Amino acid sequence: MTCEPLYTGKCLCGAVHVEVYGKERWVGHCHCPSCQKATSAGFATYAGFAAEHVRFSGDTPKIFKSSASVKRSFCGTCGSSIAFEGEAWPDEIHLHVALFENASEFKPEGHAYVRTRMPWVHLDDGLITFETFPRNAR
Ligand SMILES: [Zn+2]
Ligand SMILES: [Zn+2]
Repeated sequence: MTCEPLYTGKCLCGAVHVEVYGKERWVGHCHCPSCQKATSAGFATYAGFAAEHVRFSGDTPKIFKSSASVKRSFCGTCGSSIAFEGEAWPDEIHLHVALFENASEFKPEGHAYVRTRMPWVHLDDGLITFETFPRNAR
């Protein structure tokens, strides 16, 4: 672990800070109904990191268990979505990309759960699509 974080970010109100000390494993969009509800948006965009590379400071994110195997976290003050953690990815944390100062520089690789995407979301970015999760997910 280096001293300087590779990425820094914060929620809308600034109470929750995140620092990441390693490169993302992947970046992708999720169109599943839970991500739509959790963000009140058409879809969610995540970057997946090794959990050991992610540090929170400031306020501790609040946790909501959206299913038996999934924890979603959010800022208790402003409600910004912070992260997704699922038992299917035991050593990973999936951070909502828009938290980051350099959010515009992330390069999404694909779309998960396109079978439940909103009909008004038109995908013409040429990225790979998956009916549900990518195959390498369990
Ligand atoms: Zn906040
Ligand atoms: Zn999802």
